[in-house]
Amino acid sequence: MRMTNLFFTTLRENPADAEVISHQLMVRAGYIRKLTSGIYTYLPLMWRVIRKISDIIREEMDKQGAQEIMMPILQPEELWQESGRWDVYGKELMRLEDRHGRMGALGPTHEEIITALVRDEVRSYRQLPVNLYQIQDKFRDEIRPRFGLLRGREFLMKDAYSFDSDETGLEASYQEMIEAYINIFNRCGLETRMVRSDTGAIGGSVSHEFMVLTRTASGENDVLYCDNCSYAANSNRAESRMIPANTNGGFSEAKEVDTPGVKSIDDLAVFFNIEPSSICKTLVYIADNRPVMALVRGDRAIEETKLKNALGANDIRIASSAETEELVNKPGFDTEAGFIGPSGVNVQIVGDKSICELENFVVGINKTDKHLTGANWGKDIQLPGKIADIRLAFAGDFCPECEGKLEITKGIEVGNIFKLGTKYSEKMKATFTDEEGQEKPFIMGCYGIGVTRTAAAAIERYHDKDGIQWPMAIAPYQAIVVPVNVNDELQMSTAEEIYNELCGKNIETVIDDRDERPGVKFKDADLIGFPIRITAGKTLSEGMVEIKVRSTGEMIKVPKGEAVTKTIELINLNHELAKTPL
Ligand code: ATP
Ligand code: MG
Repeated sequence: MRMTNLFFTTLRENPADAEVISHQLMVRAGYIRKLTSGIYTYLPLMWRVIRKISDIIREEMDKQGAQEIMMPILQPEELWQESGRWDVYGKELMRLEDRHGRMGALGPTHEEIITALVRDEVRSYRQLPVNLYQIQDKFRDEIRPRFGLLRGREFLMKDAYSFDSDETGLEASYQEMIEAYINIFNRCGLETRMVRSDTGAIGGSVSHEFMVLTRTASGENDVLYCDNCSYAANSNRAESRMIPANTNGGFSEAKEVDTPGVKSIDDLAVFFNIEPSSICKTLVYIADNRPVMALVRGDRAIEETKLKNALGANDIRIASSAETEELVNKPGFDTEAGFIGPSGVNVQIVGDKSICELENFVVGINKTDKHLTGANWGKDIQLPGKIADIRLAFAGDFCPECEGKLEITKGIEVGNIFKLGTKYSEKMKATFTDEEGQEKPFIMGCYGIGVTRTAAAAIERYHDKDGIQWPMAIAPYQAIVVPVNVNDELQMSTAEEIYNELCGKNIETVIDDRDERPGVKFKDADLIGFPIRITAGKTLSEGMVEIKVRSTGEMIKVPKGEAVTKTIELINLNHELAKTPL
Protein backbone atom coordinates (compact mmCIF):
# COMPACT_ATOMS: atom_id res chain seq x y z
CA MET A 1 0.00 0.00 0.00
CA ARG A 2 1.27 3.42 -0.92
CA MET A 3 0.70 5.98 1.81
CA THR A 4 -0.46 8.46 -0.83
CA ASN A 5 -3.32 6.06 -1.57
CA LEU A 6 -4.14 5.00 1.96
CA PHE A 7 -7.45 6.46 3.12
CA PHE A 8 -6.48 7.98 6.44
CA THR A 9 -5.84 11.27 8.22
CA THR A 10 -3.90 11.63 11.42
CA LEU A 11 -4.86 14.30 13.92
CA ARG A 12 -2.66 16.24 16.32
CA GLU A 13 -5.27 16.77 19.01
CA ASN A 14 -7.22 14.28 21.06
CA PRO A 15 -10.95 14.39 20.37
CA ALA A 16 -12.81 16.08 23.22
CA ASP A 17 -15.00 13.06 24.01
CA ALA A 18 -12.17 10.53 24.09
CA GLU A 19 -11.43 9.70 27.72
CA VAL A 20 -9.29 6.64 27.26
CA ILE A 21 -6.08 6.08 25.38
CA SER A 22 -7.35 3.48 22.92
CA HIS A 23 -10.16 5.80 21.85
CA GLN A 24 -7.81 8.77 21.54
CA LEU A 25 -5.24 6.84 19.53
CA MET A 26 -7.77 5.19 17.23
CA VAL A 27 -9.21 8.57 16.30
CA ARG A 28 -5.88 10.39 16.08
CA ALA A 29 -4.22 7.68 14.02
CA GLY A 30 -7.10 7.46 11.56
CA TYR A 31 -8.58 4.09 12.54
CA ILE A 32 -12.13 5.07 13.39
CA ARG A 33 -14.59 7.92 12.97
CA LYS A 34 -17.63 8.45 15.14
CA LEU A 35 -21.04 8.49 13.49
CA THR A 36 -23.05 9.04 16.64
CA SER A 37 -22.82 8.07 20.31
CA GLY A 38 -21.25 4.61 20.60
CA ILE A 39 -21.34 3.99 16.83
CA TYR A 40 -18.26 4.15 14.65
CA THR A 41 -17.07 3.70 11.09
CA TYR A 42 -14.04 1.45 10.84
CA LEU A 43 -11.59 2.99 8.37
CA PRO A 44 -9.23 0.82 6.29
CA LEU A 45 -6.56 0.53 8.99
CA MET A 46 -9.13 -0.53 11.58
CA TRP A 47 -10.85 -2.94 9.26
CA ARG A 48 -7.56 -4.72 8.64
CA VAL A 49 -7.06 -5.14 12.38
CA ILE A 50 -10.60 -6.43 12.78
CA ARG A 51 -10.16 -8.87 9.91
CA LYS A 52 -6.95 -10.21 11.42
CA ILE A 53 -8.55 -10.79 14.80
CA SER A 54 -11.59 -12.35 13.09
CA ASP A 55 -9.40 -14.68 11.04
CA ILE A 56 -7.57 -15.88 14.13
CA ILE A 57 -10.92 -16.46 15.84
CA ARG A 58 -12.24 -18.41 12.83
CA GLU A 59 -9.19 -20.65 12.65
CA GLU A 60 -9.29 -21.51 16.34
CA MET A 61 -13.06 -22.01 16.44
CA ASP A 62 -12.95 -24.23 13.36
CA LYS A 63 -10.09 -26.20 14.92
CA GLN A 64 -12.43 -27.12 17.79
CA GLY A 65 -15.10 -28.29 15.38
CA ALA A 66 -17.33 -25.22 15.57
CA GLN A 67 -18.98 -24.14 12.31
CA GLU A 68 -19.52 -20.60 11.12
CA ILE A 69 -22.99 -19.39 10.19
CA MET A 70 -24.63 -16.00 9.87
CA MET A 71 -27.90 -15.24 11.58
CA PRO A 72 -30.13 -12.24 10.94
CA ILE A 73 -29.54 -9.12 13.00
CA LEU A 74 -33.24 -8.29 13.11
CA GLN A 75 -35.04 -10.59 15.51
CA PRO A 76 -38.80 -11.00 16.01
CA GLU A 77 -40.39 -10.31 19.39
CA GLU A 78 -42.08 -13.74 19.51
CA LEU A 79 -38.86 -15.61 20.16
CA TRP A 80 -37.94 -13.22 22.94
CA GLN A 81 -41.40 -13.76 24.43
CA GLU A 82 -40.77 -17.51 24.33
CA SER A 83 -37.53 -17.16 26.26
CA GLY A 84 -39.15 -14.68 28.63
CA ARG A 85 -36.50 -12.07 27.94
CA TRP A 86 -38.63 -9.53 26.04
CA ASP A 87 -39.85 -8.08 29.33
CA VAL A 88 -36.69 -8.42 31.40
CA TYR A 89 -33.90 -7.43 29.01
CA GLY A 90 -34.70 -3.78 29.53
CA LYS A 91 -33.65 -0.70 27.64
CA GLU A 92 -30.40 -2.14 26.33
CA LEU A 93 -32.48 -4.00 23.73
CA MET A 94 -32.94 -1.80 20.67
CA ARG A 95 -36.58 -2.43 19.80
CA LEU A 96 -38.38 -1.41 16.66
CA GLU A 97 -41.69 -1.82 14.95
CA ASP A 98 -42.27 -2.77 11.34
CA ARG A 99 -45.03 -1.45 9.04
CA HIS A 100 -47.41 -4.19 10.20
CA GLY A 101 -47.02 -3.20 13.81
CA ARG A 102 -44.91 -6.25 14.60
CA MET A 103 -42.23 -5.66 17.16
CA GLY A 104 -38.66 -6.79 16.84
CA ALA A 105 -35.20 -5.94 18.06
CA LEU A 106 -31.68 -5.54 16.74
CA GLY A 107 -29.79 -8.50 18.13
CA PRO A 108 -27.72 -7.82 21.25
CA THR A 109 -26.98 -11.57 21.38
CA HIS A 110 -28.52 -14.60 19.66
CA GLU A 111 -29.60 -17.26 22.18
CA GLU A 112 -33.24 -17.08 21.06
CA ILE A 113 -32.47 -17.32 17.36
CA ILE A 114 -30.01 -20.19 17.62
CA THR A 115 -32.24 -22.15 20.02
CA ALA A 116 -35.16 -21.84 17.59
CA LEU A 117 -32.91 -22.90 14.72
CA VAL A 118 -31.50 -25.98 16.42
CA ARG A 119 -34.94 -26.89 17.80
CA ASP A 120 -36.12 -27.25 14.19
CA GLU A 121 -33.02 -28.83 12.71
CA VAL A 122 -31.80 -31.28 15.34
CA ARG A 123 -34.09 -34.18 16.31
CA SER A 124 -31.82 -36.89 17.62
CA TYR A 125 -28.88 -37.31 19.98
CA ARG A 126 -27.03 -38.68 16.94
CA GLN A 127 -26.81 -35.17 15.52
CA LEU A 128 -25.12 -33.87 18.69
CA PRO A 129 -22.93 -32.19 19.73
CA VAL A 130 -23.24 -29.04 17.64
CA ASN A 131 -21.34 -25.79 18.00
CA LEU A 132 -22.29 -22.90 15.73
CA TYR A 133 -20.81 -19.42 15.67
CA GLN A 134 -20.96 -16.15 13.81
CA ILE A 135 -19.01 -12.91 13.69
CA GLN A 136 -21.50 -10.10 13.46
CA ASP A 137 -22.56 -6.63 14.50
CA LYS A 138 -24.39 -6.53 17.79
CA PHE A 139 -26.61 -3.73 19.06
CA ARG A 140 -26.94 -2.74 22.68
CA ASP A 141 -28.32 0.58 23.80
CA GLU A 142 -25.74 0.81 26.57
CA ILE A 143 -26.63 3.19 29.36
CA ARG A 144 -23.18 4.74 29.08
CA PRO A 145 -21.63 4.16 25.68
CA ARG A 146 -18.09 5.31 26.16
CA PHE A 147 -14.44 4.59 25.80
CA GLY A 148 -14.64 4.29 22.02
CA LEU A 149 -14.73 0.69 20.88
CA LEU A 150 -14.55 -0.63 24.44
CA ARG A 151 -18.23 0.02 25.05
CA GLY A 152 -20.15 0.81 21.90
CA ARG A 153 -23.81 0.61 21.02
CA GLU A 154 -23.00 -1.20 17.78
CA PHE A 155 -19.99 -3.49 17.96
CA LEU A 156 -18.58 -6.62 16.44
CA MET A 157 -18.90 -9.84 18.38
CA LYS A 158 -18.10 -13.47 17.81
CA ASP A 159 -20.85 -15.47 19.41
CA ALA A 160 -20.88 -19.25 19.55
CA TYR A 161 -23.48 -21.65 20.92
CA SER A 162 -23.00 -25.29 21.82
CA PHE A 163 -25.69 -27.96 22.06
CA ASP A 164 -25.06 -31.22 23.88
CA SER A 165 -27.12 -34.16 25.01
CA ASP A 166 -25.85 -34.18 28.59
CA GLU A 167 -23.74 -32.35 31.18
CA THR A 168 -20.62 -34.34 30.32
CA GLY A 169 -21.00 -33.22 26.73
CA LEU A 170 -21.42 -29.62 27.80
CA GLU A 171 -18.32 -29.85 29.97
CA ALA A 172 -16.34 -31.10 26.95
CA SER A 173 -17.71 -28.31 24.73
CA TYR A 174 -16.88 -25.78 27.44
CA GLN A 175 -13.32 -27.06 27.69
CA GLU A 176 -12.91 -26.87 23.92
CA MET A 177 -13.95 -23.25 23.98
CA ILE A 178 -11.55 -22.51 26.82
CA GLU A 179 -8.79 -23.97 24.69
CA ALA A 180 -9.91 -21.98 21.64
CA TYR A 181 -10.02 -18.76 23.67
CA ILE A 182 -6.59 -19.27 25.18
CA ASN A 183 -5.18 -19.84 21.68
CA ILE A 184 -7.06 -16.90 20.18
CA PHE A 185 -5.84 -14.35 22.68
CA ASN A 186 -2.32 -15.75 22.74
CA ARG A 187 -2.16 -15.54 18.98
CA CYS A 188 -3.45 -11.95 19.12
CA GLY A 189 -0.46 -11.23 21.36
CA LEU A 190 -2.70 -10.57 24.34
CA GLU A 191 -2.14 -12.07 27.72
CA THR A 192 -5.46 -12.83 29.37
CA ARG A 193 -6.62 -14.26 32.65
CA MET A 194 -9.63 -16.48 32.84
CA VAL A 195 -11.73 -15.38 35.79
CA ARG A 196 -14.97 -16.57 37.31
CA SER A 197 -17.77 -14.15 36.83
CA ASP A 198 -21.38 -13.32 37.50
CA THR A 199 -23.78 -14.64 34.89
CA GLY A 200 -25.79 -11.42 34.64
CA ALA A 201 -28.79 -11.24 32.32
CA ILE A 202 -27.83 -14.29 30.26
CA GLY A 203 -28.33 -16.65 33.17
CA GLY A 204 -26.99 -20.12 33.71
CA SER A 205 -24.70 -21.16 36.48
CA VAL A 206 -21.04 -21.44 35.53
CA SER A 207 -19.32 -18.69 33.61
CA HIS A 208 -15.87 -17.33 33.05
CA GLU A 209 -14.54 -14.11 31.62
CA PHE A 210 -11.31 -13.61 29.75
CA MET A 211 -9.70 -10.43 30.99
CA VAL A 212 -6.84 -8.42 29.60
CA LEU A 213 -5.21 -7.01 32.69
CA THR A 214 -4.34 -3.33 32.32
CA ARG A 215 -3.12 -0.52 34.46
CA THR A 216 -5.08 2.10 32.56
CA ALA A 217 -8.33 3.34 34.04
CA SER A 218 -10.27 1.99 31.08
CA GLY A 219 -10.30 -1.46 32.61
CA GLU A 220 -13.90 -1.22 33.76
CA ASN A 221 -13.73 -4.35 35.83
CA ASP A 222 -11.91 -4.88 39.07
CA VAL A 223 -10.32 -8.28 39.08
CA LEU A 224 -9.24 -9.94 42.31
CA TYR A 225 -6.61 -12.58 41.93
CA CYS A 226 -4.63 -14.72 44.33
CA ASP A 227 -0.93 -14.07 44.75
CA ASN A 228 -0.41 -17.76 45.36
CA CYS A 229 -2.83 -19.90 43.32
CA SER A 230 -4.76 -19.50 40.06
CA TYR A 231 -7.89 -18.09 41.71
CA ALA A 232 -9.14 -15.00 39.91
CA ALA A 233 -12.62 -13.48 39.83
CA ASN A 234 -14.44 -10.37 38.82
CA SER A 235 -15.09 -8.25 41.91
CA ASN A 236 -18.83 -8.71 41.38
CA ARG A 237 -18.37 -12.36 42.18
CA ALA A 238 -15.09 -12.74 44.04
CA GLU A 239 -15.20 -14.51 47.38
CA SER A 240 -12.69 -14.08 50.14
CA ARG A 241 -11.87 -14.97 53.69
CA MET A 242 -11.54 -11.92 55.87
CA ILE A 243 -8.51 -11.11 57.95
CA PRO A 244 -9.46 -11.50 61.64
CA ALA A 245 -10.80 -8.26 63.13
CA ASN A 246 -12.28 -7.15 66.43
CA THR A 247 -15.99 -7.85 66.11
CA ASN A 248 -16.87 -7.32 69.77
CA GLY A 249 -17.96 -3.77 70.66
CA GLY A 250 -17.17 -4.43 74.35
CA PHE A 251 -20.43 -2.92 75.67
CA SER A 252 -21.66 -4.69 78.81
CA GLU A 253 -25.41 -4.25 78.18
CA ALA A 254 -27.84 -3.43 75.41
CA LYS A 255 -28.76 0.26 75.59
CA GLU A 256 -30.29 2.94 73.42
CA VAL A 257 -27.79 5.79 73.25
CA ASP A 258 -28.07 9.35 71.92
CA THR A 259 -25.80 9.83 68.94
CA PRO A 260 -26.68 13.30 67.69
CA GLY A 261 -25.51 13.80 64.11
CA VAL A 262 -23.27 10.73 64.28
CA LYS A 263 -24.18 8.98 61.06
CA SER A 264 -21.27 7.38 59.27
CA ILE A 265 -19.54 4.23 60.39
CA ASP A 266 -16.31 6.17 60.84
CA ASP A 267 -18.02 8.80 62.98
CA LEU A 268 -19.63 6.11 65.10
CA ALA A 269 -16.30 4.35 65.58
CA VAL A 270 -14.73 7.58 66.81
CA PHE A 271 -17.75 8.50 68.94
CA PHE A 272 -17.76 5.16 70.78
CA ASN A 273 -14.04 4.54 70.48
CA ILE A 274 -14.62 1.14 68.88
CA GLU A 275 -13.54 -0.57 65.67
CA PRO A 276 -15.77 -0.20 62.56
CA SER A 277 -15.71 -4.00 62.53
CA SER A 278 -17.92 -4.06 65.62
CA ILE A 279 -20.71 -2.02 64.03
CA CYS A 280 -23.54 -3.44 61.94
CA LYS A 281 -24.06 -1.43 58.74
CA THR A 282 -27.54 -1.29 57.19
CA LEU A 283 -28.40 -0.32 53.63
CA VAL A 284 -31.71 -0.21 51.83
CA TYR A 285 -32.07 -1.34 48.22
CA ILE A 286 -34.90 -1.65 45.76
CA ALA A 287 -34.78 -5.08 44.15
CA ASP A 288 -37.30 -5.62 41.35
CA ASN A 289 -39.43 -2.78 42.74
CA ARG A 290 -39.55 -3.99 46.34
CA PRO A 291 -37.45 -2.70 49.23
CA VAL A 292 -34.83 -4.95 50.81
CA MET A 293 -32.48 -4.35 53.71
CA ALA A 294 -28.90 -5.52 53.50
CA LEU A 295 -26.60 -5.83 56.50
CA VAL A 296 -22.84 -6.04 56.49
CA ARG A 297 -20.07 -5.61 59.04
CA GLY A 298 -19.17 -1.93 59.40
CA ASP A 299 -15.73 -2.16 57.86
CA ARG A 300 -17.01 -3.92 54.73
CA ALA A 301 -19.15 -3.01 51.72
CA ILE A 302 -22.10 -4.60 49.94
CA GLU A 303 -21.48 -5.95 46.43
CA GLU A 304 -24.72 -5.17 44.60
CA THR A 305 -24.47 -7.94 42.01
CA LYS A 306 -23.92 -10.53 44.73
CA LEU A 307 -26.90 -9.15 46.65
CA LYS A 308 -28.98 -9.21 43.47
CA ASN A 309 -28.05 -12.85 42.88
CA ALA A 310 -28.71 -13.80 46.49
CA LEU A 311 -32.20 -12.38 46.10
CA GLY A 312 -32.71 -13.91 42.66
CA ALA A 313 -33.61 -10.42 41.43
CA ASN A 314 -33.23 -9.04 37.92
CA ASP A 315 -32.59 -5.50 38.90
CA ILE A 316 -31.20 -3.73 41.94
CA ARG A 317 -30.48 -0.18 43.00
CA ILE A 318 -29.94 1.73 46.21
CA ALA A 319 -33.18 3.14 47.66
CA SER A 320 -33.88 6.87 47.64
CA SER A 321 -34.41 8.81 50.87
CA ALA A 322 -38.15 8.91 50.23
CA GLU A 323 -38.30 5.16 49.72
CA THR A 324 -36.37 4.58 52.93
CA GLU A 325 -38.65 6.95 54.87
CA GLU A 326 -41.61 5.00 53.62
CA LEU A 327 -39.98 1.73 54.60
CA VAL A 328 -39.44 2.69 58.23
CA ASN A 329 -42.86 4.32 58.12
CA LYS A 330 -41.64 7.57 59.66
CA PRO A 331 -42.19 10.69 57.61
CA GLY A 332 -39.35 13.12 58.26
CA PHE A 333 -37.03 10.37 59.51
CA ASP A 334 -33.38 11.18 58.87
CA THR A 335 -32.67 8.40 56.42
CA GLU A 336 -28.93 8.67 56.37
CA ALA A 337 -27.34 5.29 56.68
CA GLY A 338 -26.27 5.69 60.27
CA PHE A 339 -29.71 5.51 61.87
CA ILE A 340 -31.32 2.79 59.83
CA GLY A 341 -31.53 -0.67 61.32
CA PRO A 342 -33.10 -4.08 60.89
CA SER A 343 -35.49 -4.07 63.84
CA GLY A 344 -39.19 -3.40 63.50
CA VAL A 345 -39.36 -3.24 59.73
CA ASN A 346 -41.63 -5.39 57.65
CA VAL A 347 -39.31 -6.19 54.79
CA GLN A 348 -36.94 -8.90 53.59
CA ILE A 349 -33.53 -8.61 55.26
CA VAL A 350 -30.35 -10.21 53.93
CA GLY A 351 -27.27 -10.35 56.10
CA ASP A 352 -23.76 -10.82 54.86
CA LYS A 353 -21.92 -13.71 56.51
CA SER A 354 -19.65 -11.13 58.16
CA ILE A 355 -22.39 -9.99 60.57
CA CYS A 356 -22.72 -13.37 62.25
CA GLU A 357 -19.61 -12.87 64.38
CA LEU A 358 -20.74 -9.50 65.75
CA GLU A 359 -21.10 -9.30 69.54
CA ASN A 360 -22.10 -6.41 71.79
CA PHE A 361 -22.22 -4.36 68.64
CA VAL A 362 -23.64 -1.01 67.56
CA VAL A 363 -26.59 -0.81 65.18
CA GLY A 364 -29.16 1.73 63.95
CA ILE A 365 -32.73 1.43 65.26
CA ASN A 366 -34.61 3.67 62.84
CA LYS A 367 -34.63 6.58 65.28
CA THR A 368 -32.98 9.81 64.31
CA ASP A 369 -29.92 10.58 66.45
CA LYS A 370 -30.04 7.26 68.28
CA HIS A 371 -28.24 3.91 68.13
CA LEU A 372 -28.43 0.68 70.02
CA THR A 373 -25.13 -0.29 71.64
CA GLY A 374 -24.18 -3.66 73.08
CA ALA A 375 -26.58 -5.50 70.81
CA ASN A 376 -26.44 -9.27 70.42
CA TRP A 377 -28.18 -11.46 67.85
CA GLY A 378 -31.08 -13.45 69.15
CA LYS A 379 -31.28 -11.45 72.40
CA ASP A 380 -31.77 -7.89 71.19
CA ILE A 381 -32.16 -8.28 67.44
CA GLN A 382 -33.12 -11.22 65.25
CA LEU A 383 -30.37 -12.49 62.98
CA PRO A 384 -31.78 -12.12 59.45
CA GLY A 385 -33.42 -15.24 58.05
CA LYS A 386 -31.24 -15.02 54.99
CA ILE A 387 -27.48 -15.01 55.38
CA ALA A 388 -25.33 -15.00 52.24
CA ASP A 389 -22.04 -13.79 50.86
CA ILE A 390 -23.04 -10.34 49.62
CA ARG A 391 -19.93 -8.36 50.45
CA LEU A 392 -17.24 -6.96 48.23
CA ALA A 393 -14.00 -8.88 48.54
CA PHE A 394 -11.10 -6.58 49.37
CA ALA A 395 -7.51 -6.71 48.24
CA GLY A 396 -5.57 -8.05 51.20
CA ASP A 397 -8.29 -10.58 52.12
CA PHE A 398 -7.34 -14.25 52.12
CA CYS A 399 -7.96 -16.27 48.98
CA PRO A 400 -11.07 -18.47 49.30
CA GLU A 401 -9.16 -21.46 47.98
CA CYS A 402 -5.70 -21.33 49.53
CA GLU A 403 -3.59 -19.50 52.10
CA GLY A 404 -2.61 -16.78 49.62
CA LYS A 405 -3.80 -13.20 49.64
CA LEU A 406 -5.94 -11.44 47.06
CA GLU A 407 -4.61 -8.61 44.94
CA ILE A 408 -6.62 -6.29 42.76
CA THR A 409 -6.10 -4.95 39.27
CA LYS A 410 -8.11 -3.48 36.42
CA GLY A 411 -9.25 -5.74 33.64
CA ILE A 412 -10.97 -5.42 30.28
CA GLU A 413 -13.34 -8.28 29.55
CA VAL A 414 -12.66 -9.42 26.00
CA GLY A 415 -14.43 -12.76 26.11
CA ASN A 416 -17.08 -14.50 28.08
CA ILE A 417 -18.17 -18.14 28.28
CA PHE A 418 -21.31 -19.52 29.92
CA LYS A 419 -22.76 -22.89 30.73
CA LEU A 420 -26.39 -22.17 30.00
CA GLY A 421 -27.68 -25.65 30.68
CA THR A 422 -31.38 -25.86 29.81
CA LYS A 423 -32.25 -22.22 30.54
CA TYR A 424 -33.29 -21.51 26.96
CA SER A 425 -34.05 -24.98 25.67
CA GLU A 426 -36.63 -25.64 28.40
CA LYS A 427 -38.42 -22.34 28.00
CA MET A 428 -38.38 -22.59 24.21
CA LYS A 429 -39.18 -26.31 24.18
CA ALA A 430 -36.09 -27.16 22.20
CA THR A 431 -35.72 -30.90 22.61
CA PHE A 432 -34.14 -33.95 21.01
CA THR A 433 -34.70 -37.67 21.37
CA ASP A 434 -32.09 -39.44 23.46
CA GLU A 435 -30.82 -43.01 23.14
CA GLU A 436 -33.81 -44.37 25.09
CA GLY A 437 -36.23 -42.52 22.85
CA GLN A 438 -36.97 -39.87 25.48
CA GLU A 439 -37.54 -36.18 24.69
CA LYS A 440 -34.90 -34.07 26.43
CA PRO A 441 -34.01 -30.39 26.32
CA PHE A 442 -30.66 -29.49 24.80
CA ILE A 443 -27.84 -28.70 27.21
CA MET A 444 -26.43 -25.42 25.96
CA GLY A 445 -23.40 -23.22 26.31
CA CYS A 446 -22.68 -19.80 24.83
CA TYR A 447 -19.37 -18.16 24.14
CA GLY A 448 -18.70 -14.52 23.18
CA ILE A 449 -15.69 -12.51 22.12
CA GLY A 450 -15.80 -8.76 21.63
CA VAL A 451 -13.84 -8.42 18.40
CA THR A 452 -13.74 -4.63 18.34
CA ARG A 453 -13.22 -4.51 22.08
CA THR A 454 -10.27 -6.87 21.73
CA ALA A 455 -8.63 -4.44 19.31
CA ALA A 456 -9.18 -1.57 21.75
CA ALA A 457 -7.90 -3.67 24.66
CA ALA A 458 -4.72 -4.40 22.71
CA ILE A 459 -4.12 -0.66 22.40
CA GLU A 460 -4.87 -0.08 26.08
CA ARG A 461 -2.27 -2.69 26.86
CA TYR A 462 0.33 -1.77 24.24
CA HIS A 463 0.98 1.90 23.58
CA ASP A 464 3.40 4.63 24.54
CA LYS A 465 3.32 8.42 24.42
CA ASP A 466 3.91 8.37 20.67
CA GLY A 467 1.15 5.96 19.68
CA ILE A 468 0.12 2.37 19.24
CA GLN A 469 2.47 -0.61 19.64
CA TRP A 470 0.46 -3.34 17.95
CA PRO A 471 1.28 -6.96 18.61
CA MET A 472 2.52 -8.19 15.22
CA ALA A 473 -0.34 -10.60 14.59
CA ILE A 474 -3.03 -7.94 14.63
CA ALA A 475 -1.18 -4.88 13.31
CA PRO A 476 -2.87 -3.49 10.19
CA TYR A 477 0.45 -3.75 8.35
CA GLN A 478 3.62 -5.41 9.51
CA ALA A 479 6.11 -2.90 8.15
CA ILE A 480 6.49 0.58 6.72
CA VAL A 481 9.27 1.74 4.45
CA VAL A 482 10.08 5.42 4.79
CA PRO A 483 12.12 7.25 2.16
CA VAL A 484 13.09 10.33 4.17
CA ASN A 485 13.07 12.57 1.10
CA VAL A 486 10.98 11.45 -1.86
CA ASN A 487 12.89 13.83 -4.12
CA ASP A 488 16.16 12.06 -3.39
CA GLU A 489 16.53 9.51 -6.16
CA LEU A 490 18.71 7.02 -4.29
CA GLN A 491 16.47 7.08 -1.20
CA MET A 492 13.34 6.66 -3.27
CA SER A 493 14.65 3.87 -5.47
CA THR A 494 16.05 1.96 -2.48
CA ALA A 495 12.77 2.35 -0.63
CA GLU A 496 10.79 1.14 -3.65
CA GLU A 497 13.09 -1.84 -4.04
CA ILE A 498 12.74 -2.90 -0.39
CA TYR A 499 8.98 -2.28 -0.51
CA ASN A 500 8.52 -4.39 -3.61
CA GLU A 501 10.65 -7.19 -2.28
CA LEU A 502 8.76 -7.27 1.05
CA CYS A 503 5.40 -7.28 -0.75
CA GLY A 504 6.70 -10.09 -2.95
CA LYS A 505 7.40 -12.10 0.19
CA ASN A 506 3.86 -11.48 1.45
CA ILE A 507 4.93 -9.05 4.12
CA GLU A 508 2.13 -6.51 4.54
CA THR A 509 4.01 -3.31 3.86
CA VAL A 510 3.28 0.36 3.39
CA ILE A 511 5.64 2.79 1.63
CA ASP A 512 5.44 6.37 2.84
CA ASP A 513 5.76 8.02 -0.56
CA ARG A 514 4.30 11.30 0.68
CA ASP A 515 6.26 14.48 0.05
CA GLU A 516 6.28 15.32 3.76
CA ARG A 517 8.89 16.39 6.26
CA PRO A 518 10.67 13.41 7.89
CA GLY A 519 9.34 14.46 11.31
CA VAL A 520 5.77 14.13 10.09
CA LYS A 521 6.41 10.72 8.54
CA PHE A 522 8.12 9.33 11.64
CA LYS A 523 5.41 10.70 13.93
CA ASP A 524 2.67 9.14 11.81
CA ALA A 525 4.49 5.80 11.63
CA ASP A 526 4.78 5.71 15.42
CA LEU A 527 1.21 6.87 15.95
CA ILE A 528 -0.31 4.29 13.59
CA GLY A 529 1.97 1.73 15.15
CA PHE A 530 3.67 -0.12 12.30
CA PRO A 531 5.68 -2.77 14.18
CA ILE A 532 8.74 -2.41 11.91
CA ARG A 533 9.93 0.78 10.23
CA ILE A 534 12.65 0.72 7.57
CA THR A 535 14.15 4.13 6.88
CA ALA A 536 16.00 4.94 3.67
CA GLY A 537 17.77 8.20 4.49
CA LYS A 538 21.19 9.74 4.85
CA THR A 539 22.85 6.47 5.94
CA LEU A 540 22.43 5.26 2.38
CA SER A 541 25.68 7.05 1.56
CA GLU A 542 27.31 4.23 3.56
CA GLY A 543 24.96 1.71 1.94
CA MET A 544 22.95 1.30 5.11
CA VAL A 545 19.27 1.57 6.05
CA GLU A 546 17.86 1.93 9.53
CA ILE A 547 15.30 -0.44 11.04
CA LYS A 548 13.24 0.55 14.06
CA VAL A 549 11.30 -1.92 16.19
CA ARG A 550 8.21 -0.06 17.41
CA SER A 551 7.57 -2.13 20.54
CA THR A 552 11.07 -1.74 21.99
CA GLY A 553 12.34 1.38 20.28
CA GLU A 554 15.41 -0.57 19.17
CA MET A 555 17.25 0.92 16.14
CA ILE A 556 19.29 -1.37 13.94
CA LYS A 557 21.52 -0.32 11.03
CA VAL A 558 21.83 -2.92 8.28
CA PRO A 559 23.28 -2.94 4.77
CA LYS A 560 20.41 -2.17 2.41
CA GLY A 561 20.73 -5.61 0.79
CA GLU A 562 19.94 -7.24 4.13
CA ALA A 563 16.95 -5.06 5.01
CA VAL A 564 14.37 -7.57 3.85
CA THR A 565 15.89 -10.60 5.60
CA LYS A 566 16.31 -8.62 8.81
CA THR A 567 12.73 -7.34 8.64
CA ILE A 568 11.36 -10.86 8.23
CA GLU A 569 13.49 -12.06 11.12
CA LEU A 570 12.14 -9.27 13.33
CA ILE A 571 8.57 -9.99 12.29
CA ASN A 572 8.98 -13.58 13.38
CA LEU A 573 10.43 -12.42 16.69
CA ASN A 574 7.91 -9.73 17.39
CA HIS A 575 5.28 -11.98 18.82
CA GLU A 576 7.55 -12.37 21.82
CA LEU A 577 8.52 -8.70 21.89
CA ALA A 578 4.91 -7.66 22.23
CA LYS A 579 4.67 -9.36 25.57
CA THR A 580 6.28 -6.58 27.56
CA PRO A 581 5.39 -6.77 31.25
CA LEU A 582 2.46 -4.73 32.57
P1 ATP B 1 -20.01 -6.12 29.88
O1 ATP B 1 -20.07 -6.71 31.25
O2 ATP B 1 -18.70 -5.48 29.55
O3 ATP B 1 -21.20 -5.26 29.56
P2 ATP B 1 -21.32 -8.40 28.83
O4 ATP B 1 -21.24 -9.34 29.95
O5 ATP B 1 -22.56 -7.62 28.61
O6 ATP B 1 -20.09 -7.36 28.90
P3 ATP B 1 -21.49 -10.43 26.80
O7 ATP B 1 -22.94 -10.29 26.66
O8 ATP B 1 -20.96 -11.65 27.41
O9 ATP B 1 -20.88 -9.13 27.49
O10 ATP B 1 -20.81 -10.22 25.37
C1 ATP B 1 -19.66 -10.94 24.94
C2 ATP B 1 -18.50 -10.01 24.68
O11 ATP B 1 -18.88 -8.91 23.86
C3 ATP B 1 -17.95 -9.37 25.93
O12 ATP B 1 -17.03 -10.22 26.55
C4 ATP B 1 -17.27 -8.13 25.38
O13 ATP B 1 -15.96 -8.45 24.94
C5 ATP B 1 -18.12 -7.77 24.19
N1 ATP B 1 -19.02 -6.64 24.49
C6 ATP B 1 -20.11 -6.64 25.28
N2 ATP B 1 -20.70 -5.44 25.29
C7 ATP B 1 -19.95 -4.64 24.48
C8 ATP B 1 -20.05 -3.28 24.06
N3 ATP B 1 -21.04 -2.51 24.48
N4 ATP B 1 -19.10 -2.80 23.21
C9 ATP B 1 -18.11 -3.59 22.76
N5 ATP B 1 -17.96 -4.88 23.12
C10 ATP B 1 -18.87 -5.40 23.96
MG1 MG C 1 -23.12 -5.66 29.05
